Amino acid sequence: MEERTLHAGRPSTARELRLFQAGPSEGGYALVLHGGAGSRPRELSLEERGEYTEGLARAYRAGAAVLERHGSALDAVCATVAVLEDDPLFNAGRGAALTARGEAELDASVMTGDGAAGAVACSRFARNPVFAARKVMEETRHVLLVDPDEDLVAGWGLATTTPEYFVTEARLRQLAEVRSAQLPAPRHGTVGAVARDRRGKLAAATSTGGIVNQSEGRVGDTPILGAGTFARDGVVAVSCTGEGEAFVRGVVAHDVAARISYLRSGLAEAVTGTITTELTAREASGGLIAVAADGTIAVAHNSPAMFAAFDDGSRLVTLV
Ligand code: ASP
Repeated sequence: MEERTLHAGRPSTARELRLFQAGPSEGGYALVLHGGAGSRPRELSLEERGEYTEGLARAYRAGAAVLERHGSALDAVCATVAVLEDDPLFNAGRGAALTARGEAELDASVMTGDGAAGAVACSRFARNPVFAARKVMEETRHVLLVDPDEDLVAGWGLATTTPEYFVTEARLRQLAEVRSAQLPAPRHGTVGAVARDRRGKLAAATSTGGIVNQSEGRVGDTPILGAGTFARDGVVAVSCTGEGEAFVRGVVAHDVAARISYLRSGLAEAVTGTITTELTAREASGGLIAVAADGTIAVAHNSPAMFAAFDDGSRLVTLV
């Protein structure tokens, strides 16, 4: 597949809304992922841009391969997010943003369009928090588990690790800079994916380390179904990134679905309506990705930048 990288060009002004749309695709499936929305404390070098582009493309290819061979939307979003969790460049899994105490507390959620959902908050032992979220959905009667212990995660048959595995030198440096106020807290964080499979089923998954220097125990929108993640067959699947508290208050992912279901809005109208009303009007920053029932996809943000990847019908587009 041909690949194209879109650079933001001129930096977007505060809270300017950006929208990218594509599809529906001819293959009958659709996938879009994000690697976080936010402001940049500094411009990325050419080399860094290349690394982010490659990381996004690798994750896209992992999910697209699942859909291509008739796999489920759920398998595709989990495969995509797991690649981003393993990549220390992104704020999820290894290389996640650290709490004020210098620890990684990871949040993740998954939801399928038939209404099944699972999430973990403050996860420390599952190597891939997105897989733990899926196990909560498939193996328990619950939707959200806080800090599942190592035995529980191992009992699910998942790879476990030590909490130190997630902590990288780069994130420790970033935390020190933020704490000494040398750097405005960067908000590029969270990864997520939404997909429609060949049977028309939808799924969404989101994973994050939260916000740099956050209090221990702070939980944002990512593991809150309806806020950071939502999916409903026949309507839309959504994954969010940005100032989590605003997404929780505005129940942002569900708001997009409600606009489509109740107001009969199109996808673009729904996502721009939600961002304008629930984020911009409340001086909050962030973005979201969405796939509609027909496979149309959207990437929208009011933050200055957002990392994302999608197929525009002829090639893989990465936003870096
Ligand atoms: N939404 C995430 C949180 O609040 C952070 C982010 O997306 O940057 O935990």
